[in-house]
Amino acid sequence: MNTVPAVDASRLPQLLRAMPKAELHMHIEGSLEPELIFALAQRNQIPLAYDSVEALRAAYAFTDLQSFLDIYYAGASVLLHEQDFYDMARAYLDRAVADNVVHTEIFFDPQTHTERGVAMETVINGLYRACRDAQIEQGISSSLILSFLRHLSEESALQTLDAALPLRDRFIGVGLDSSELGNPPEKFTRVFERCKQLGLRLVAHAGEEGPPAYIWGALDVLNVERIDHGVQSEQDALLMQRLVKEQIPLTVCPLSNLKLCVIKDLADHNLPRLLAAGLKVMINSDDPAYFGGYVNENYTQLFAATGMGAPEAYQLARNSLEASFASQAQKQEWIARLDEVFREYAAA
Ligand SMILES: [Zn+2]
Repeated sequence: MNTVPAVDASRLPQLLRAMPKAELHMHIEGSLEPELIFALAQRNQIPLAYDSVEALRAAYAFTDLQSFLDIYYAGASVLLHEQDFYDMARAYLDRAVADNVVHTEIFFDPQTHTERGVAMETVINGLYRACRDAQIEQGISSSLILSFLRHLSEESALQTLDAALPLRDRFIGVGLDSSELGNPPEKFTRVFERCKQLGLRLVAHAGEEGPPAYIWGALDVLNVERIDHGVQSEQDALLMQRLVKEQIPLTVCPLSNLKLCVIKDLADHNLPRLLAAGLKVMINSDDPAYFGGYVNENYTQLFAATGMGAPEAYQLARNSLEASFASQAQKQEWIARLDEVFREYAAA
């Protein structure tokens, strides 16, 4: 589409929800709603430190990344069996379908589970089966990205990779997440090198709380194809130029940034500026159960707070589809559907 058709502002929230989009930054363990945590705790007879769904939800008042991670790991402790991982992923995929997500690349953190004695096959097979069934039954496309926990050692990441390799056909790439500050990309040089040789797709969290130097490191040392978050790139003019020139995707998560106090107010979010500067940014939900909303909630709240309009909506959805690891033919098909939705909304 050369020019985005004008859409009446009153129809924008509806358009944001209806447009087909991809979600490229979502941690499956972060989609565990308190209700499901309680149901799984009961099923698996695991004691929780909170006595009700409400008490758990009330604990979701974070001050920074670490305060969130502490509760996030406690919530994940209820996952033991393949069916638990299946149920968690199906619950997310249902919500993604409802948000008109046509494709999602789902992060999972095996170390959060293997460290508790859960087998790698249990984790991957449960998630993989959920993705496959959702594709067949609901038509949503999805793939899995194995993420290493950066607060643990590179040795642990290498062992995790080895344990996952027998299931290599069930995930498309690797990522790097968890506590960013003090855990620079360079710590994982060898494991990313190995993943590259194996033909895995490479992404990493960088520049969420960490400095632009971490984004440079992720690009130049880890050779990643996408940066997760990357909102701190604005502090470095040279880095901004490079991100524009090479059209490196940044998977931005507005409600996460708000909840973890990376920004004070959604109206101050720099995504509109990054987009206007020509960076390939898009909107994602990160850990939607913990941060107050799934992907459409991220779109509608950010647009309401910043006053962006239909042209920005189109570009963000298109960026999400283009930055995915799906085939070119598949991307073209989704973009044609996106164009169709915009034409319908302009005509109405
Ligand atoms: Zn994340």
